[in-house]
Amino acid sequence: MKISEIIKLSNEKLKNIEYVDPTREAIEIISHVLLADENEILLSNDLEINDNDLEEIKDLIELRSSGEPLQYVLNRAYFYNRKFYIDNRALIPRYDTEHLLYRTLEISKDFKNPDILEVGAGSGAISITLNLELENARIEACDISNDALEVCNINQELHNSDVNFFYSDLFGNVVKKYDIIISNPPYIKKSDLSLIPKETLKEPLNALDGGEDGLDFYKEITKESIDYLKDGGYLIYEIGFDEAYDVYEIMNKYEFKNINIDKDFQNLDRVIYGKKG
Ligand code: GLN
Repeated sequence: MKISEIIKLSNEKLKNIEYVDPTREAIEIISHVLLADENEILLSNDLEINDNDLEEIKDLIELRSSGEPLQYVLNRAYFYNRKFYIDNRALIPRYDTEHLLYRTLEISKDFKNPDILEVGAGSGAISITLNLELENARIEACDISNDALEVCNINQELHNSDVNFFYSDLFGNVVKKYDIIISNPPYIKKSDLSLIPKETLKEPLNALDGGEDGLDFYKEITKESIDYLKDGGYLIYEIGFDEAYDVYEIMNKYEFKNINIDKDFQNLDRVIYGKKG
C-alpha cells in the first residue's frame, strides 16, 4: 500500500470522529511508525509501505477511529516544546496550560531559590518543565493517583529531571512550606461532563470532575494552602474560562492579596494568582 492510499483510508476511518484532521493525523501516525520526519512523509506519496509497518499503521488508525485521543494512540504529547510520554493513566497536557507555566516562571523571579509545589501532577509535564527551565528552584509535585505518578516517573526518566514526585491526597502528605504552590485541578462542573468531547472522556475522570459547581478543589486547596505557603508566597491556578469570579472570591476569603488574572490566547480567563498576605 502507498502512503497516499493510507491517507485515503484514514480519511474514511476518521470521518466520524469529532475535531479531527484525518490527513494530518494519518501523517503523524505514519511518521511515528516509520520513525520518519513528517516532511519526508509529505514528500513521499508514492512510497510503498512494507507489510509489518502497514499492519501497525492500520491498528493505530483503528484505535484512533474508536475515539482514543491521538496523544494516547501515539503515547506522546508536546508541552512547552518538549515531548512527553502519555497514556490514559494521566490527563493529556494542554496547550492552554502553558499560561500557568508562564506565570509561574515570571513569579519565580521574585525568589532566589524558590521552593515550588504542584498539587495534582498528572503527567508531570508542568513540574518537569519548571525543573528544566528554572536552575535555582526546587520542585516537588504530588498526586492522588498512583497511575499518574507512574507516568510522571516515565517522563522524569525521559527528561533526566529532578522533581520530587510523591503520593498525596491534596496536602495529606505535604510536610513543609513553599514559596509557590500551583495547581491545574479538576474543574469541570459535574453537569457539564456530559457535554465535553467524547475523546476527553477517555481521560481520567478524577482529573476533570470538579464537583457540582466545578470549584471543589479551588475551595479545598485555597483553604489548606495557607498552612503550606510561606508568608509572601504565591498560589497560582489554572481555571475554567467562566470561573475567575468565583475563584477570586475564594482566594479573597482566605485573604490572598494582589489577586490577578491572566487571559489565554483566545482572550479567556485562564490563570489566577495571588499572594499570601
Ligand atoms: N482544560 C481541560 C478541558 O476542558 C480541563 C482540565 C481540568 O479540569 N483541569 O479539557
